[in-house]
Amino acid sequence: MAGPRFGRGPVAFGDGVDYHTGFARGTFPSRTRGETVIPYGRQCIDEDDVAAVAAVLRSDWLTTGPTVAAFEAAVSARMGAAFGCAVANGTAALHSLYHALGVGPGDEVIVPTITFAATANAALYVGATPVFADVDPDDLTIDPASVERLIGPKTKLVVGVDYAGQPCDYDALGALCRERGVELAADSCHALGATYKGRPLGEVVRALALSFHPVKHIATGEGGMIVSNDEALVKACAIFRNHGVTTDFRQREQAGLWSYDMAGLGYNYRLSDIHAALGLSQLKKLDRFLARRREIAAAFDAAFAGLPFLKPLARRPERGHAWHLYVVRIDFAGLGKSRRELFQELRGEGIGVNVHYLPTHLHSHYRTTLGTGEGLCPVAEAAYETLLTLPIHPGMTDVDVQTVVSALQNRLSRVG
Ligand SMILES: *Cc1c(COP(=O)(O)O)cnc(C)c1O
Repeated sequence: MAGPRFGRGPVAFGDGVDYHTGFARGTFPSRTRGETVIPYGRQCIDEDDVAAVAAVLRSDWLTTGPTVAAFEAAVSARMGAAFGCAVANGTAALHSLYHALGVGPGDEVIVPTITFAATANAALYVGATPVFADVDPDDLTIDPASVERLIGPKTKLVVGVDYAGQPCDYDALGALCRERGVELAADSCHALGATYKGRPLGEVVRALALSFHPVKHIATGEGGMIVSNDEALVKACAIFRNHGVTTDFRQREQAGLWSYDMAGLGYNYRLSDIHAALGLSQLKKLDRFLARRREIAAAFDAAFAGLPFLKPLARRPERGHAWHLYVVRIDFAGLGKSRRELFQELRGEGIGVNVHYLPTHLHSHYRTTLGTGEGLCPVAEAAYETLLTLPIHPGMTDVDVQTVVSALQNRLSRVG
């Protein structure tokens, strides 16, 4: 069979470039070596990425070096923000951002309950209390009406999560937060490259947290970043990632100084130049990655239109979707099959389906420490029972896409 050794065929990008063979030196698999399952998300690494990492290994700086600064400049520019602070992972980005925004003990942070747990956990890290907002029933982003009901005297920060890659209703959230005098920030770990009314998110929200985990849009292995137009805010994040020390090693070297001051307690949340080199190389391909994600989403949309028992999440035309996840809602009662059954059948056919996410307030840590439970966010709880994530990532071949489509069509058109 033509194409990469571990894939099922070449990837045809919209611009006619064949991903696996179009780059000069690379043939990398679209799935984990030796596995037959099409994963829901996966990194797309090529020989030029390998070369970029090798080059930095031969350079003078493995950490706190110029590649980190270049990566910060490139990502923040891409997101429409003037400043960036690279950190060890997306969770560290959230922790640093909440700290820099002045969130602390006694404060409440309103987060949507449908998100990765880190959005809420970072509030605990700074001694604050997460408060779980319900979501829009159709697109599952944070519901501004729910936020409005939850804002109280202790509310310090509202965090939007661009669920699946589709930005939140930032006009409504922004107006509400301004009116009530609370901060608004974004967990945009799903949304590198997303837009709102044609503008990059860095122009829309005061500060964003990003992740470069391999399932996200670009991979650094582990990695994250805070981006913002607020220089002081980003500087506060940079100090927090470096133990609370106000200068880093390179700055002291350049200034010929040995002394430093730890002005507050921070962490070692630095990203290495090795990671940043991979990220910079990956970022050059972001537009192509996004185009391939859009292409796969459009193929799914077309194939699933008219299929009974399945409904993709609602799209908001003014919000430029980055397609981190392709999430569908399935009427399991109508289908006469449980999610567990369908999940196992699809996994058995090599389709790496997943579920994003169990509402955070239903995790036992939050049940036991905050007393959360069923009934707190009824829209999210009902939606959760219907959710299924299908594979979408730029390394998927057209044959992979067709494999997913056929499996869903077979399972959903045959009742019982
Ligand atoms: C991935 C992710 C995070 C955490 O990022 P890491 O890099 O894995 O720490 C936080 N929030 C959301 C919504 C995410 O998807």
